[in-house]
Amino acid sequence: MPGFELWSDKERKEVNDVLETGILMRYGFDGPRKGIWKSKELEAAICKTFGSQYAQLTSSGTSALTTALSALGIGYGDEVILPCFTFVASFEAMLSAGVVPVFVDVDDTLTIDPAAVRKAITPKTKAVMPVHMCGSMADMDALTAICKAHKLLLLEDACQSIGASYKGKTPGTIGDAGAFSFDFVKTMTCAEGGAVVTNHEAVYLKCDGYTDHGHDHQGIDRGADLHPFIGYNYRISELHAAVGLAQIKRLEEFLAIQKKNHAHLKSILAQVPEISFRRLPDPAGDSCTFLSWFLPTEEITRAVINEMKILGILAGHFYWYDNNWHYIRKWDHLKNATTLNALHPDLKGQVIFHATKDFAASDAIMSRCVSTAISLLWTEEQVREKGEKIITVIKKVLREQNITA
Ligand SMILES: *Cc1c(COP(=O)(O)O)cnc(C)c1O
Repeated sequence: MPGFELWSDKERKEVNDVLETGILMRYGFDGPRKGIWKSKELEAAICKTFGSQYAQLTSSGTSALTTALSALGIGYGDEVILPCFTFVASFEAMLSAGVVPVFVDVDDTLTIDPAAVRKAITPKTKAVMPVHMCGSMADMDALTAICKAHKLLLLEDACQSIGASYKGKTPGTIGDAGAFSFDFVKTMTCAEGGAVVTNHEAVYLKCDGYTDHGHDHQGIDRGADLHPFIGYNYRISELHAAVGLAQIKRLEEFLAIQKKNHAHLKSILAQVPEISFRRLPDPAGDSCTFLSWFLPTEEITRAVINEMKILGILAGHFYWYDNNWHYIRKWDHLKNATTLNALHPDLKGQVIFHATKDFAASDAIMSRCVSTAISLLWTEEQVREKGEKIITVIKKVLREQNITA
């Protein structure tokens, strides 16, 4: 997931355009900016690249999620169903909007299990928020059917899935809205930034105002804009948008490299029958930022991770089960609802209740899963070496545990 790995003169050129005029803000200053509108250009490029009607840039993926929740009218008293394997930002955005995050299990797609979603629906459920983890999209047919049947909103956390698709459709265009992240380690980066994408004009217009103190952006004089509702400041700067504009033009190039390296590494690991791979709801739509693989048991997986650590080859491989950013098991701050200011006591109680439920079905999957981040810089030789080192370790562990000869 590393657009920053190929930092180039193209990014420098776009940033320099902005430095030349010194107009670092995305709104106003029409004369002095001399026709340079990087944020507007990037929004247009997002729509064109991903086939969405509207895109609203934000300061981060987290603020894109917060903005989308608010624009969809999701707030106090509402429950939103999301997977227990995601990034902490998914629930942070919900808490900032006063929403109850209702965590449910993931399945072997590493995304939300539609059967678990069905079981978690209550009269208070307002939306389902699948998270397209590790570069591949959730089972959107099943989730769309559930949302239709129960009249729920569908908001896609697409922060990790730029460049992915599901049956030809891009993230954020199947549900009511989607959120992208352009933080420093995502497939394309702005350094910091995000976007809400949607096909609904009303949702877009709310995002537009919400991210800029409620400005309606209807007048020619920013100071005279009306404020039809209360907003916040989740604006992106022109400098950040400039980086993103260079990167989106290179996205095809990044994805092609990822796909090539991913296929090569997968073909090597596939030689070991004990290794299985993540199930993909639409294999053609994998953006290939990660190769996610499973071993037969937690014990074997831990032994392999341990051996890789000893050999100094663990960098770039993620054992999410022990990770305290991405999997619920280690989110103690959430389980205790530790916040700096007081949460409403009802919300606090609900947060603790849902964060401390039993996720045995997810544990059984996540405890056997390793994701290998696919680099844009690897040579063919390096992929081969990496793959061979991994299978040497796995075969050694399997032998030691008397799994195979
Ligand atoms: C990165 C990420 C976010 C948040 O994006 P930021 O730009 O870092 O705020 C949200 N959800 C998921 C799944 C992510 O990976």
